[in-house]
Amino acid sequence: MKGQYDVIIVGTGPSGLTLANILGSYHVRTLVLERDPALSPFPKALNIDDEFFRLLHAMGMGMAMKHHAKYPISYDYVSPLGLRLGFVRGRITEHGFPNRAAIYQPDFEKILFNAAVETDYVTVKFDQEVVRIDDDAQTGVQVVARQANGNESTFHGQFLVGADGAHSVCRKHLNLSFDEVDKFGVRHVVIDVLDDIDPSPMALTKMGWRRNFFSMPAPNGRRFEFSLRNDETAEDLLDDDTLRHLFKPWRNYDELNIIRKVVHTFRARIAPKLHHGRIFLIGDAAHLMPVFGSQGMNSGARDANNLGWKLARVINNGAPQALLDTYNTERWEAVLKTIKMATMNGKLQMVQSIPMSLMRDAFFGLLRLIPAATSYIREMKYIPRPFLRSSLVQPGAEQGKKKDIIGRINPNPKVSVNGEEHLLDELTGTGFALIGVASSKHGVEQIVSQARRFDATIVIVNEKGANETWTQGAAGETIRAATVLDSHYDPLFESYRGQWLLVRPDRVIACAGSWQTFIESSACILAEMMNAPIDRIRDGLIQEQCPEHRAA
Ligand SMILES: Cc1cc2nc3c(=O)[nH]c(=O)nc-3n(C[C@H](O)[C@H](O)[C@H](O)COP(=O)(O)OP(=O)(O)OC[C@H]3O[C@@H](n4cnc5c(N)ncnc54)[C@H](O)[C@@H]3O)c2cc1C
Repeated sequence: MKGQYDVIIVGTGPSGLTLANILGSYHVRTLVLERDPALSPFPKALNIDDEFFRLLHAMGMGMAMKHHAKYPISYDYVSPLGLRLGFVRGRITEHGFPNRAAIYQPDFEKILFNAAVETDYVTVKFDQEVVRIDDDAQTGVQVVARQANGNESTFHGQFLVGADGAHSVCRKHLNLSFDEVDKFGVRHVVIDVLDDIDPSPMALTKMGWRRNFFSMPAPNGRRFEFSLRNDETAEDLLDDDTLRHLFKPWRNYDELNIIRKVVHTFRARIAPKLHHGRIFLIGDAAHLMPVFGSQGMNSGARDANNLGWKLARVINNGAPQALLDTYNTERWEAVLKTIKMATMNGKLQMVQSIPMSLMRDAFFGLLRLIPAATSYIREMKYIPRPFLRSSLVQPGAEQGKKKDIIGRINPNPKVSVNGEEHLLDELTGTGFALIGVASSKHGVEQIVSQARRFDATIVIVNEKGANETWTQGAAGETIRAATVLDSHYDPLFESYRGQWLLVRPDRVIACAGSWQTFIESSACILAEMMNAPIDRIRDGLIQEQCPEHRAA
């Protein structure tokens, strides 16, 4: 049944608005219901990562983000004795964007909101607290929302996405627990300051014997945090005299232009599943993680990126609903790994006994003597980059080997086409893409035909100095050949030269191979997306390729 809306999203936090943008870009009729009368005025998340920035750019918010955000951010981690334990270098990564960019969440949410409503397919209604949900496998979802004056409205949709934060009514409707991944529950007093004296993009974590201090750049000033000890209450730390004392080594507290001070408790939780029937959970509604590693909001964006194109495919292209099951398969394990990383990171920073702290410092001091370990920290390689595994990826012969890339995100190098510079994403667009890694013309007819079935763009990626040998398919289709200008595609030139990659709309590499292998494995993915037997897909391919077969 077609609902009043295709998708109803609950919550205008960063996760809900990111998904609204993705769905709007696919012309999916989307309603976003928000309990509050307006977007949140409170700054919470401070950093977006390279993957999220890349997604924002793809959805047309690149320029707005360039003006709003401060980047790239570098991080210094200093021990109680003043020893530098780690340094994360601010840099542009293989995603083509800064590893970390500082945002001011209220302004950031405005950017997301404006872009979403500009798609013309997204309606946002404030002062609508979702209080009741009815879902039916056949008829869709019915949502009752209450306004502040007590009136209630009912909305219908084909699918419902709970992006309604830690106390999610959608998660409760599904009767799902919110399981503690780890008992680690650290509290910080967080003080956001306007126009700080230090406008640099440097962040500092100064670990102490009794508490840690954090100083982080924001686009409009700086954020400071102090960790709380177990015997302290929030009131203790919000007290002006206490803060005046804590700030003494760093700032004159009385001269700070404070936007907000608040105590946050960071927890590690995950729902046992992220999807049931027509209802999905994304962002904090599905998982919570300690702030170390800045992955909470960024994980919500990954949820939205994974789910958005699949919902669009089901709604717009009649793909089977089973396609949506891969959201849970692909995201749950990945999120769990991220929560564990954030927790471990936090535990290392929060060591409070002096002997343990000395052991940690000695360990990290020794690590600094090993170049590989230094680059592991400097380039944040500890942030999990899991291989997604589901029926929508076809691991190849490289599975389990160092050069495996299937299920990972395709790099986004700088490329040139006819002398003009682009990011690779700008050539491939936001749909499926077939990328030839310095590929030859062999099998091009089959490749072009397969691209048509995925409605995909074809791009040939060549190394610098290589001849752009061809730009046309056999049937006259334009196939763009791009020359890579940086080193981000080097691992692919090394291990996948001459092969074809299928890149999904969320930029995940779904399969790779020489043209024959590629046609076979991409046909398996197509079969999955169309809920058709693989033999029929193969037959279809053969018929398209051989006119005599078609005539017969
Ligand atoms: C101090 C701090 C620092 C952080 N720093 C970072 C960082 O640097 N990087 C990072 O990635 N993450 C960070 N995080 C985590 C990040 O803030 C969250 O993960 C992120 O805000 C979650 O977004 P969300 O959209 O999933 O949920 P929320 O932001 O919680 O949004 C949920 C929305 O749903 C609405 N809602 C709730 N119930 C209903 C209902 N029944 N009906 C209608 N609407 C409803 C709420 O009003 C709200 O607007 C930080 C968090 C804190 C506290």
